Amino acid sequence: QKSYLRPVDVRQDKLLGGLLLEGFDENSCFSRYQSVLYRKKPSHQPSSHLISRLRNHEALHKRCGPCMGSYNATLERLKSGKYTNSSTGCKYIVWISFSGLGNRILSLISAFLYALLTNRVLLVDPGLDIPDLFCEPFPEVSWLLPPDFPISTDKFNSFNQKSPESYGNMLKNNNVSCNSIVFTPPPPYLYLHLAHDYDEHDKLFFCDQDQTLLHNVPWLIMKTDNYFIPSLFLIPSFEQELNNLFPEKGTVFHHLCRYLLHPTNPVWGLITRYYDAYLAKADEKIGIQIRVFKTDPGPFKYVLDQILACTSKENLLPRINKKESIINPSGKKPKTIAVLMTSLSSGYFEAIRNMYWENPTVTGEVIEVYQPSHEEYQQTENLIHNRKALAEMYLLSLTDKLVTSSWSTFGYVAQSLGGLRPWILYKPENQTTPDPPCRRAVSMEPCFHAPPFYDCKTKTGIDTGKLVPHVQHCEDMSWGLKLF
Ligand code: GDP
Repeated sequence: QKSYLRPVDVRQDKLLGGLLLEGFDENSCFSRYQSVLYRKKPSHQPSSHLISRLRNHEALHKRCGPCMGSYNATLERLKSGKYTNSSTGCKYIVWISFSGLGNRILSLISAFLYALLTNRVLLVDPGLDIPDLFCEPFPEVSWLLPPDFPISTDKFNSFNQKSPESYGNMLKNNNVSCNSIVFTPPPPYLYLHLAHDYDEHDKLFFCDQDQTLLHNVPWLIMKTDNYFIPSLFLIPSFEQELNNLFPEKGTVFHHLCRYLLHPTNPVWGLITRYYDAYLAKADEKIGIQIRVFKTDPGPFKYVLDQILACTSKENLLPRINKKESIINPSGKKPKTIAVLMTSLSSGYFEAIRNMYWENPTVTGEVIEVYQPSHEEYQQTENLIHNRKALAEMYLLSLTDKLVTSSWSTFGYVAQSLGGLRPWILYKPENQTTPDPPCRRAVSMEPCFHAPPFYDCKTKTGIDTGKLVPHVQHCEDMSWGLKLF
């Protein structure tokens, strides 16, 4: 029996194979060491190299993080606007809170891996809700950007594709010569615009020679709503290190998310209360994540038909028997399958729950259908709305089999966190049910929706999904890239 307040048994692998550091205060963030109680036995172990790099990173964070001497010294350079030769050895990447929660989780994990690869300290713009959703991941020193940081939140929000401080615009306006090895002198900070509307100059971020230029800039400030990790695997100078960190390529998000993002106690309460009340006792748990990218909230019959076609064709849920009123052949306690649905609308859930109430299943299994919330529309600035969104992504990740919607970062977080290869519902065109309705994903990794298609060496366009076997186009978006 699992309980919210039970101290975690030390014999259980509460450190997730060495991914987590021991010694954090358990009460301030129950999820950190209790997640193991809710997850199936992990089938993917982090590499020893990843573990040692994480420990090094924690040490770097402690030395260079907010309020430490080195931080203050680097900050002075930012305030004065002048470049002086670095003596502190501390460099930073600031992640700006931007877009829906699923997008933010993917971009935060991307920024963290970039920080690991480039030995930068990751500092996080708290936005409206980051401290409300996630515990501090590093020991002793906060990862939150202090409120007195000289570049204001308003300025962060105003950064966009046209900002003169952006690296892409500096290249475009020829302030930086791509042929010189270093800026002379490097600016104290640069803004990296890596959001979906970025242009070909911004995308040069993914070239080795540009990484060399960025290397000497003490403060990089990044705004992105993308999971850009697949393209980091195509940068030659990162390749070897990434191979060492992730011998199993399709587990990057899985490990990094379980390392970095621990729900705060209020969110953990939402997760564990729901799990214990509705999911814990079922023999099997199926997650169904429905995301319809339309302004009309629905529900739509063609989407319901698609869900049912997928779950029956792929044998995820039993068919119903419309001719009989009761089926329980052996008289024994029937198998129970809990279906956890998430959607902004309650229509799909109601239809499926009623279907399994009004009719028996052909196999006699009992189907319980649950949906934690139906928020009707996206409310990115509402605290409890975002807590519920995170709780639902997490709950989906605790299921045994998962059905997700194409293009949805909400679903990507759930699948990857849970180590699940989902069945992806194809994106419907012209309001009709796609045939086939869904397909099994080849890996659990999220899809990078806006990758560059550029060969930095020859300076021509290429298909970046055809360069190496472990970076290919996504199942749900033909131009996207994902790790396999
Ligand atoms: P994406 O738009 O599907 O890629 O996912 P995002 O998480 O970036 O943005 C969608 C936002 O809409 C979420 O963060 C939630 O705020 C809300 N949302 C969408 N689907 C659901 C759902 O099933 N449950 C809840 N609670 N919120 C949802």
